[in-house]
This record gives sequence, structure tokens and C-alpha cells, in this order.
Amino acid sequence: METRPAPPSGSRNAPTDFGGGDTNGWRSWMLRVGHKPTVAVITAASILMSLVLTTLINVAVDNIANLALDLAIAFTVPLVIAPLASYYAVGLLFEVEQARGLLQIAVIRDHLTGLFNRGYFLARLREEIERSRREPQSLALILIDVDQFKAINDSFGHAAGDAVLERLGQVLAEALRPYDLIARYGGEEFVALLPGTTLAQANAAAERIRATLESMPFDWGGMAGRGSVTASLGVTCLGDANDTADALLARADRAMYAAKNAGRNRCVTLPPDGVA
Ligand code: GH3
Ligand code: MG
Ligand code: MG
Repeated sequence: METRPAPPSGSRNAPTDFGGGDTNGWRSWMLRVGHKPTVAVITAASILMSLVLTTLINVAVDNIANLALDLAIAFTVPLVIAPLASYYAVGLLFEVEQARGLLQIAVIRDHLTGLFNRGYFLARLREEIERSRREPQSLALILIDVDQFKAINDSFGHAAGDAVLERLGQVLAEALRPYDLIARYGGEEFVALLPGTTLAQANAAAERIRATLESMPFDWGGMAGRGSVTASLGVTCLGDANDTADALLARADRAMYAAKNAGRNRCVTLPPDGVA
């Protein structure tokens, strides 16, 4: 799940490979078997190659008399040199792969909640719109904004505010499906993209999220005791071929602000033009 540094592979929440390419070839094989076994395989392959080449050369130059001694040398030299050289080189490769993995996560994830960040969400939103048109299937979007969040920070401290954001991230991850795309859109704003979901279904999901958060006790600590947090949610879905990512987001934003203006702690659904 999305709180969830390692989302299920194949889900829409799985991080994309951002290049470097060959994750299925020899590099992924080495990462799978580990550092020392890789060195052992490289050493064995070097010895085998050295023995074969030495035999071929000796046969070619008709030097069979010295073959035993040459084979002993051909065995010993790579046995000593190959592990020394490859241990260091393979170690470096493992470090690079580790750094690449961490970088991939840092580039696409929000460090506080573990959800995707805005940049990654926007890139994927365009892909998902195209996919929804191709298949075709419905595509819904929910924008979630914590109510009076500044007051939470001001009253209980920034750490308490951060804890609220983390918990909301967990609520979203648990309430939605693994292949829904959930991201932290801004400070206390989150966004969820729900492929194959109608407006009515998205509204039901939004209401589930709203109710879960409202009923969730937060321990503010000390004299403040326990309290609750609410959010306002704007729900919309993809319209006809003229509808765009920007228009979809703007509509969700309008719906979310309508929920604020209607008194907060509610979901407002705004269909695209022409959809009842
Ligand atoms: P509304 O109900 O109208 O949405 O009011 P609000 O107080 O939630 O909205 P406002 O935009 O006034 O305040 C948002 C606050 O979120 C202000 C900002 O300091 C805080 N914030 C943004 N990012 C973070 C964060 O990462 N951690 C914490 N603790 N606070 C954050
Ligand atoms: Mg806000
Ligand atoms: Mg807010």
C-alpha cells in the first residue's frame, strides 16, 4: 500500500523505472544472487575461459608437452586475480544500484507520507487519461484538503500537523485500491485518481474517506487530549474528448472549494459538462 515504500508491482502505484535500463538482465540477476556469489561465478567463468584458451593455444602451436604446466598457470592466475578485481567492481555496482533505487524513490515520493508527490502524479495523470480513453473506461479524481489545518499546527504544533498528514495518507491508502494513484498534492492537500471508477462510485469512496477521518481520534497530547480532524473533498470524473488534465484538476478544485464554502467536512461532486 501507499504508505508503503514498496507498492505491489504492476499496480498503478508501482514506481516507474526512470532509466538506467537493464533491470531484467545481468544486473538484476546479480542483485538477486548477491555480491559474493556473483564474484564466485565471475571467478569460475574466468578460470574456465582461461583453461579453454590455454588449451586451444597450446594445441594450435603444438605445445602439448607443456600443457599441464600451462593449465596450472591458467588455473591459478584467474583464481587469484578475478576475485580481487571483481569483488571491488561488483561492490561498486551494488552501491550504484542501491543509490539508484533510493533516488528513484526520492524523485517520485513525498518524504513525509510516502505517497507519490505532485510531479509524479501529474505525469501519471496524463498517461491515465490517455489509457482511459483508449480502453475506454471511466476515470474519477478526488481532491482532499484537511479542514482548518493551520489551526491544528498553531494549537498543537507542527509535529502534530505532520502526524495528521501521515495518518491521512494511511487512511487514503487503506480506503482506496492498490491500483488507484494517490499523491500528496500540496501542503495539506491530497489527490487520488481512480481508474475504472464512475462518479457515483468515487463519491462513495470519498464519503468513506471523509467518515473514516472524522471518526478517527487524534491524541494531541498533554492538556489538549483527544480530538478529531476533518477534510473537505471534491470529486469529479473525466468528461468527453475535449476534457483535459488541467480541466479535470480545476473541476476537482472547484468541487473541493464548494465543500469548504458549504461548511467543510463534506464531499461535493462536480460532473464534467454534459454529464448528469
Ligand atoms: P481550510 O479549512 O480552508 O483548508 O484551512 P486550512 O487552515 O487547512 O488552510 P490554510 O491554507 O490556511 O493552511 C494550510 C496550512 O498547512 C498552512 C501551512 O503552514 C500548513 N502546512 C503545509 N505543509 C505542511 C507540512 O508539511 N506539515 C505541517 N505540519 N503543516 C504544513
Ligand atoms: Mg489547502
Ligand atoms: Mg486546508
